[in-house]
Amino acid sequence: MRGNSVYQAPRGTQDLLPNEVKYWRYVEDTATRVAERFGYQLIRTPIFEETSLFVRAVGESTDIVSKEMYTFEDKGGDSLTLRPEDTAPVLRAYLEHGFASRTQPVKLYYIGSMYRYDRPQAGRLREFHQFGCEAVGDGDPAVDAEAILVAWQLYQELGLTNLSLQLNSIGCPNCRPAYLERLVDHFTKHKVGLCHDCQRRLQMNPLRLLDCKVEGCQPAILAAPSSADNLCDECAEHFEQLRKLLAAFELPVVLNPRLVRGLDYYTRTVFEVWPATVGAQSALGGGGRYDGLMEQLGGKPTPGIGFATGLERIIINIKDQGIVPPEVGRPFLYVAYMGEDAKLPAFKLAGEARRLGIPCVSTLSSRSLKAQMKQANNLGAPFAFILGEQEIAEGTVTVRNMSESRQWQEPQANALEQLLQAKG
Ligand code: AMP
Repeated sequence: MRGNSVYQAPRGTQDLLPNEVKYWRYVEDTATRVAERFGYQLIRTPIFEETSLFVRAVGESTDIVSKEMYTFEDKGGDSLTLRPEDTAPVLRAYLEHGFASRTQPVKLYYIGSMYRYDRPQAGRLREFHQFGCEAVGDGDPAVDAEAILVAWQLYQELGLTNLSLQLNSIGCPNCRPAYLERLVDHFTKHKVGLCHDCQRRLQMNPLRLLDCKVEGCQPAILAAPSSADNLCDECAEHFEQLRKLLAAFELPVVLNPRLVRGLDYYTRTVFEVWPATVGAQSALGGGGRYDGLMEQLGGKPTPGIGFATGLERIIINIKDQGIVPPEVGRPFLYVAYMGEDAKLPAFKLAGEARRLGIPCVSTLSSRSLKAQMKQANNLGAPFAFILGEQEIAEGTVTVRNMSESRQWQEPQANALEQLLQAKG
């Protein structure tokens, strides 16, 4: 519902309002905990980077670079772009800070906002948020398996069910050219039935044809040769080992020959996590191996794998599945007072409660006790302290258990101690 403000948040963006915070905290806290449990460390990169970083890393033929970047010239004449993804910035940081000299793989995670000029719809925004992991510097299939397990464990710990892990291997620069030739041959035979975009992809980025959602393209896509059947020996061995490692964890792996990723830098492993009811359009997250990317950015050949998952999409699924995260931001105590003489003692008592670690809201301007108790209820505080003339004279406080509508008088120190214990 719109209020009567002259301004509205820009199209494709949304405010995070207090009643939504519990979902975001739940997802961000769980993601942080899971990533750190696997030995990933937090990295924060700038919201904007030099435009050419994304052009080089993501690839000019991709939708992201060709249509979706928020690019602007700053006052010094430099071309900057709001980050549409964080893999390229993380690799830029890896190079810039000499992480190649650390023990490999360097395992980094991030949580932050990304920007893509896309057509806004449910689960697709122009400003959205991702949690992602990158493991850089080691090409072993165990690194792939571990990255996939971070994603999987996150969804598990959030309580999401009915998900599948879509997996494919798209080969490497040794085996992919021959595969792409077969693919181009195949689609050239079916060219008349292909959509306009796919006709263009046939020239620019034939792998992306497999990803097309247009109905008319589906027969040709279904009949297309699969990359997993056209791998060189090294890639086939890598893929087999990855599947063996994942099999030990009983994940619901679906080998999906049509799974390719939208970004050019992927090699070998690609994966996505899908909710049961919808397809790739609403993937919860996805990622893959990008062994060629570091060289594209001017570094030495360095293998890497990563994934990203959208926080907005996770939250949509959490709500759909009826998962209720713990409340956050509720005061445990409300401090009320009666009469102006009690204002300062009440203000001090609230300060003391906070110093002890009790989340506390106090009345700041005079109003009736009834109005104060109503506010305490609205805020969801389980306890209230009431200070009046008598309590101040005796050094006590009236403690009220809000849900039981029961109240009693205590020396102030005891009351605070009781609350600390009740809070646990
Ligand atoms: P990508 O970086 O395109 O591989 O996307 C990884 C994940 O980020 C997706 O699976 C989504 O969960 C999320 N995502 C990507 N684009 C958007 C968007 N425009 N709005 C919301 N979430 C997105």
